[in-house]
Amino acid sequence: MTRFGGITRSLCAAFLLLFILHGCEQKQPALPVIAVEHGPNAVEQRQKPYVVLVSLDGFRYDYAQKYGAPNLLAIASRGASAPDGMIPAYPSVTFPNHYTIVTGLYPEHHGIVANSFYDPGRQQVYNYSDPRTAADGSWYGGTPLWVLAENQGMRSACFFWPGSEAEIAGQRPSYYLKYDAKLPDEDRIDQVVAWLRLPAATRPHFITLYYPDTDHAGHEFGPESPEEFAAVHHVDELMGHLETKLNKLHLPIDLIIVADHGMETLQGGWINLDRWADLSDFVTDGALMYPKNDAAAEKAYEQLKGASDKFNVYRRRDVPAELHYSSNPRIGDPVIVLNGPYWIRAKASTNPNDKVPNMKGMHGYDPFRFKAMRAIFYAEGPGIRRGVTVESFENVNLYPFIANILGLSIGPADGDLRVLQGILQQPRPEHALELPPGYVPEFAPENAAKNAAQLELTRGAP
Ligand code: AMP
Ligand code: ZN
Ligand code: ZN
Repeated sequence: MTRFGGITRSLCAAFLLLFILHGCEQKQPALPVIAVEHGPNAVEQRQKPYVVLVSLDGFRYDYAQKYGAPNLLAIASRGASAPDGMIPAYPSVTFPNHYTIVTGLYPEHHGIVANSFYDPGRQQVYNYSDPRTAADGSWYGGTPLWVLAENQGMRSACFFWPGSEAEIAGQRPSYYLKYDAKLPDEDRIDQVVAWLRLPAATRPHFITLYYPDTDHAGHEFGPESPEEFAAVHHVDELMGHLETKLNKLHLPIDLIIVADHGMETLQGGWINLDRWADLSDFVTDGALMYPKNDAAAEKAYEQLKGASDKFNVYRRRDVPAELHYSSNPRIGDPVIVLNGPYWIRAKASTNPNDKVPNMKGMHGYDPFRFKAMRAIFYAEGPGIRRGVTVESFENVNLYPFIANILGLSIGPADGDLRVLQGILQQPRPEHALELPPGYVPEFAPENAAKNAAQLELTRGAP
């Protein structure tokens, strides 16, 4: 061994020790974060605020009141909330809605029209639980917030979010992780905090965080169960820890906590559509049906029309406009919309031992007809007015709202800034839309006096 080699080795050991000590001091969790080299934040972006966007999967709009979630209720009183819930896009399931939240597009426009679907053009199936498709950017349309940020020289980070593992429109978040439900809950928070402790040059301004607990408990035990109560308390406690840790950073952080959908108690066993319609020539995925041609779609439609009071059937072009579920061939044709919280699939199983899965709760239903599909919305921070409530609004409107906080320019989207602009302390004029004369923000009228008083209070606050 050369003397030189010995010195190098000692130096390496010293550096390693320093690195470990430094790591301990920062309490940086050892998580499999993937870092993508994007260079520093552009100088003009460093002055911008920070947004931490949290999703609590399946946290129904009324759980915080119903089960008592002190931290979320405190966030509501210090910031903004939607007591009657945020309205998910149809279908009210996980991947379409998370991706709607970050793109401001309805699923028919961003292309993730279900957790699992078929693309007749590609002749391929997308499935959210298959990393080969979930992490393949060619399935995803629109410009998710992390792509928007990166394209404008602002660093972003995703601690899980549907779509965040894919390279979309040639772009990725600066930091992200592959989905692993086993990564410890507190470590996720510590990672978010560690990102926010990075030097200003590399510190992400837009960060996502995700917890599935309330969705899991809702499916397995139902929304009315003690297990759901426990899950609500668990994630509420996590939100308390997150808030405490964020406050210690003394950065201008707006914390936005949402869910993708709600939850309802399931009723009955399988509804199999091939009981009424000959679907042998159809490609099917769940209840989605892909016909060979228009005549086949029309025939199945006729066979299913009036077959059961548990569902309505539409030709795709005739799906009720408020569902925005017509324009994409990935939706199939005809289209079924359920009239209650049922299980449905196109084709009965050929397995003789097939049973109804042991599940108590489900979602996916029409969010306008079934209030239980509605999700939470809480927002708090220096950019958010204090103690304000908003009427139910569609989740497509989060995108222009978050982009406005971050001062990012957006292209055309289904969401409209005017819906949430009224809860911003100071909408950025360069991106705010001009309000029409006589425009009234969507505050619940009974809160008008309280809102005005809170506004006064906030104006006086540092
Ligand atoms: P859903 O029943 O539609 O609410 O789907 C929820 C499931 O999606 C949960 O069990 C999560 O574990 C899973 N999930 C959530 N985010 C991701 C992700 N980024 N990648 C893969 N699976 C996810
Ligand atoms: Zn979900
Ligand atoms: Zn679910």
